[in-house]
Amino acid sequence: MTELKFAESLSRLGTESAFVVLARAQQLAAQGRDIINLGIGQPDFKTPDHIVEAGIKALRDGHHGYTPANGLPALREAVSADLHRRHGVEVNPDNVVVVPGGKPTMFFAVLMFGEPGAEIMYPNPGFPIYESVIRYSGATPVPIALKEENGFAFSAEEVLGQITDKTRLIIINSPANPTGGVTPREEIDKLVKGLLDHPHVALMSDEIYSNMLYGGREHVSLLQYPEIRDRLIMLDGWSKTYAMTGWRLGYAVWPDACVDHVTRLCINDHSCVNAATQFAGIAALEGPQDAVHDMVRQFDARREIIVRELNALPGVRCADAAGAFYAFPNIEGTGMSAKEAQDRFLDEAGVATVAGTSFGAWGEGYLRFSYANSAENILEALSRIRKLL
Ligand code: PLP
Repeated sequence: MTELKFAESLSRLGTESAFVVLARAQQLAAQGRDIINLGIGQPDFKTPDHIVEAGIKALRDGHHGYTPANGLPALREAVSADLHRRHGVEVNPDNVVVVPGGKPTMFFAVLMFGEPGAEIMYPNPGFPIYESVIRYSGATPVPIALKEENGFAFSAEEVLGQITDKTRLIIINSPANPTGGVTPREEIDKLVKGLLDHPHVALMSDEIYSNMLYGGREHVSLLQYPEIRDRLIMLDGWSKTYAMTGWRLGYAVWPDACVDHVTRLCINDHSCVNAATQFAGIAALEGPQDAVHDMVRQFDARREIIVRELNALPGVRCADAAGAFYAFPNIEGTGMSAKEAQDRFLDEAGVATVAGTSFGAWGEGYLRFSYANSAENILEALSRIRKLL
């Protein structure tokens, strides 16, 4: 019998229950059930060949050692050039810190500002790791409620209205997981203008889906607002854009005041991202972008199908999904809770989705459908759900 005494803080650390659904779906599939997975949050495409080749070449060329903790200078320069190309902004490569994926940036930002007595705002429903790490840090999580009637965009007025002298950090995410919501420029303008009255508040803008917008919508990067660059952390990465979730490569642009702190966190945590992956990251940014455009075109076609088919289900209505690769229909009319619908769709129809409540309390009444699956499978999945309903 062990008598291990764990730190109390561990009891406050949450998880990402999409992984739990995935495990259950895999278990059912192993029993011979035909499962269609619309629960997954990663592109169903392969990393483009030229990126894979660059990673292999780096290993063959002997890039086996540590790199600078903040990332290879050539990679940080490539990030800076990419941000100039996509958002028309100047970013000093010294402000870019490369980390293993999108998650470390949010963890480090929250650890940097979060402690008992501090408040951190985060989107709800939103990526579950935000609330999890805020609680872990001891800070008080203050939800930014995202509502269907606003297309799941945040309201700048509501965000600004919740700021207190304890607020240290505000997290925003557009295009958003799990809703597919995109916040329009006017709302972001309002938020930035209002923040000027609160110089003690930092902002983390999670722009990991910045390449995935549909229906002519534009991505508004918070980097485009010079007036808050001295307290903006802009998170982006390779996972979604280049179908590289398993490579573990992401970055953020940090304000001058945070760069040394985050670099120390990197040195204490992981030393650096593995070298070959960083070379693959350079190839991704500097090589042809056709594969990215093609993937986004395919997502857009599937998005139209899934939104149309969801709206045709009894008791279901689905807002136009504007970005990322998720639809977030309201299922209240089916009489089921989000968790009940998630479980029944999986067990009885063989379709994996994720309950809205996995993304926070404001997700009750909704389910997340990922359309990172073929149009054929999406149609089959919705036909099975129609029969069940
Ligand atoms: N931010 C959001 C909004 C996400 O949805 C995800 C992944 O699903 C991430 C960040 C994390 O990405 P990564 O896999 O690169 O850590």
